[in-house]
Amino acid sequence: MILVTGGAGYIGSHVVKALIMKKYQVIVIDNLSTGNQEAIDSKAIFVNGDVRNPKDLEKIFSKYSVRAVMHFAANAYVGESVEKPAKYYSNNVNGMIALLKMMVQYHVKNIVFSSSCAVYGKPPCKIINENTPAMPINPYGWTKLIGEQLLKDFSSSYSLKYIALRYFNVAGAIGSGELGEDHTPETHLIPNILKHLLGETKKIFVFGNDYETKDGTCIRDYIHVTDLGNAHLLALEALLDNRVANRIYNVGNEKGISVNEIIKMCETITGRKAAVEYAKRREGDPPALIASAELLKREFNWKAQFDLKDMIESAWQWFLHHPTGYKKI
Ligand code: UDP
Repeated sequence: MILVTGGAGYIGSHVVKALIMKKYQVIVIDNLSTGNQEAIDSKAIFVNGDVRNPKDLEKIFSKYSVRAVMHFAANAYVGESVEKPAKYYSNNVNGMIALLKMMVQYHVKNIVFSSSCAVYGKPPCKIINENTPAMPINPYGWTKLIGEQLLKDFSSSYSLKYIALRYFNVAGAIGSGELGEDHTPETHLIPNILKHLLGETKKIFVFGNDYETKDGTCIRDYIHVTDLGNAHLLALEALLDNRVANRIYNVGNEKGISVNEIIKMCETITGRKAAVEYAKRREGDPPALIASAELLKREFNWKAQFDLKDMIESAWQWFLHHPTGYKKI
């Protein structure tokens, strides 16, 4: 049995689907604070619970033989983390401690951790590899870096085996359109642009056009959720087969795209025109984050199969068919 925490969320639900397709037995724990129960594959067992609550975890660990944990349950908005740091440290750090303690208690040795490029803060170099110093500039990034440190410490003390994946900006949906991105509130760039182009909002706000980048807007590296899901499966299998342990990998497309470029591409793909307003910078945003995914490619033979066009097209299909998200399908 593979335990997926946060399996009702955007990335978690895509990974659950990928695990089920590979015939793994899956149990999901999610408190549905930001996730959608409708997103969880019907073949997975679902427990409505909170990783911070040992009783909720105990119900699972005492009943099922958990071979590995994939830990997604976390809050993940950079801006909100600046406004409400306690919420982020409580959910992301305390939740992880409770989970790791339970793993130790039940002798569960393997964990794949959902980390983030936010650990790099404002990196001193253009292309970021795993040796680039981690120096977060917002509470969200700190909670992920602390999560990685917890893994290192628990692996030394209890021979836990981990792989942490530092995601860059995740986008897109699985091609068949049954899963997609549905956050409340939505803060991410691509869904916000597409929802605007659907007529849900009057404008798309660009947070800052005075950065030291090619067009003044922030640069990010976007990765398709399916490619990210594949990286998780490779990591899980490497842990289960005792091939690799206690490693950290970037997962990105190795291409920097500006906010303005994303808007243009969304306009081209949808054939609609966006009303753009340039607003002030969002607190906690670094100017540019571009991955080197060399290590993951070399050690796992992983390769991104989808590009930005695929991400925007699949996300657009999702929003066209689910304009109100999961709730009113
Ligand atoms: N962004 C924006 N308008 C929006 C949402 C995001 O200008 O409505 C910018 C944001 O400031 C950042 C980039 O788009 O520079 C990517 O933000 P997102 O929230 O998608 O991901 P993050 O990089 O924060 O994880």
